[in-house]
Parts: sequence; structure tokens; C-alpha cells
Amino acid sequence: MSEKLGSSQLARPGSSIIVAIDGPAGAGKSTIARHLAQRFGLLNIETGAMYRAYALKALRAAMPLDESSALERLADETTIRLEAGESGNRVLLDGEDVTGLLRDPLVTETASRVSVFPAIRAWMVKLQQQLGEGGGVVMEGRDIGTVVFPGAQVKIFLDAAPEVRGQRRFDQLGPTPDQLPEEVIREMRARDERDRNRVDSPLRAAADAVLLDTTHMTLEEVLQAAEALVTERIDAAPTPR
Ligand code: C5P
Repeated sequence: MSEKLGSSQLARPGSSIIVAIDGPAGAGKSTIARHLAQRFGLLNIETGAMYRAYALKALRAAMPLDESSALERLADETTIRLEAGESGNRVLLDGEDVTGLLRDPLVTETASRVSVFPAIRAWMVKLQQQLGEGGGVVMEGRDIGTVVFPGAQVKIFLDAAPEVRGQRRFDQLGPTPDQLPEEVIREMRARDERDRNRVDSPLRAAADAVLLDTTHMTLEEVLQAAEALVTERIDAAPTPR
């Protein structure tokens, strides 16, 4: 799988720093990543959106989610592109803007299931490395500091107690959520379990990541801590060619 993997329409900022943000669902990765990107003029690359886009394709094609070779063949016919947007990445699946479809609970569940397959991960990792190769990025996911960019200048592993993460996720669903809080928490735990226990690149903190447990922290405190870590390193990072 390769050339067809996709490419980016993302513009290149001034610094070549790579900031890796990993952690389980609902830990606050997206909020922190978006903030850091704005604050330091970096590109925000949401790798979960790429797994979600591929999951949508698998769902539309009614693929069995336990057959690696069929999923691989489907990946061969898939192009995923990211474009920078005001409030996050716009995701193009085979040229179609699917950004608004990626938060559906079924897509979420399917992304978690397809992401266990090594061939799918290898494809995604390669694409993510291409997107971030010039630096100047904040990349968030599960394996950025461990696999995608093990040499990232800043690695943050965000975590929080499961009940707190579940409640945050539920609050994000808006005023008329179509799921109960218990359901959101149950699904989130199941995804975490799968992410932490898969054989290929399980969710874990890189040995040199800074751990931020946000259970008892305010958003402001987390943002300040994350900013301080980037500030420390950004001046040291070379400017891109
Ligand atoms: O981060 P987000 O919740 O959008 O990710 C959706 C799913 O994609 C996760 O549950 C996880 O299983 C998978 N994922 C992954 N590796 C990444 C990013 C996401 O396995 N780097």
C-alpha cells in the first residue's frame, strides 16, 4: 500500500518541532493539540480521524471486520487526505469530505476494531510520517511518541480517570445526546481495552514522554503545563529547509 495512501494539503509553518500527544479516549488530546497548534503556529494532525475515515469506508463496503486481507485490499483502494481547517482537520475520503460523519458511534467503534490490524496500522503510520516529515506539527493519537515519531522533541501522554474521561466525552455530545452517559463510558472503556491490549503498537506512554494526569486539573492548568513543555523545546528545534 503506498502512493494511493493520500497526501496533505496542509501548509508548512515556521518551526520544525514535532509534538506528539498520546493517550486514551477523552483525555483531552484534541483540545490540547488544537491549542498548542494555534499558540505555536503548528499544524494539528488528528490521526484518529484517519482511522475513522477508513472505518467509514469499511462500513460502507460492508466489510467483515475480522478479515485482515480483505481490509488490506480495501485500504489499497483508499485515499485519505487531511486539510487544515479552522476548528480541526477536514478529512477527505477518496475525495469526499466526510468530516461531519466521523463522530458517529458506529464509526468510532469500527475505527477501534480496524486499528488492531498491523497492515492497516503500517499504512496509516507511513502516511502520518509523510504528513509530519517536515516537522512543525502537533500530532495526536495513540502511538505517535512510540511508533510514528519516536524522535519527537516533545512527547506528552495525557490521561485521566475513566469516569472523568467518560463524562467529558458525554458532555461533548451536545445538548441532545443520543447515548446515555453509561453507554458512552462503557464504549470508551471497551475501546481503551482494545487499544491497550492489541499486539501491534498498543497504547502506552513512550519511556521519555511527560505524563499529565488531568483528572484533577483544570483545562487552564493542562494548557499551561503543555505550553511550558513546548516552549522549552521550540527554540532548540531547527527551522525547516
Ligand atoms: O482519537 P480517536 O478517538 O479519534 O481515534 C479513533 C480510534 O482510532 C481509537 O479508538 C483507536 O483505536 C484508533 N487510533 C489508533 N492509533 C492512533 C489514533 C487512533 O489506533 N494513532
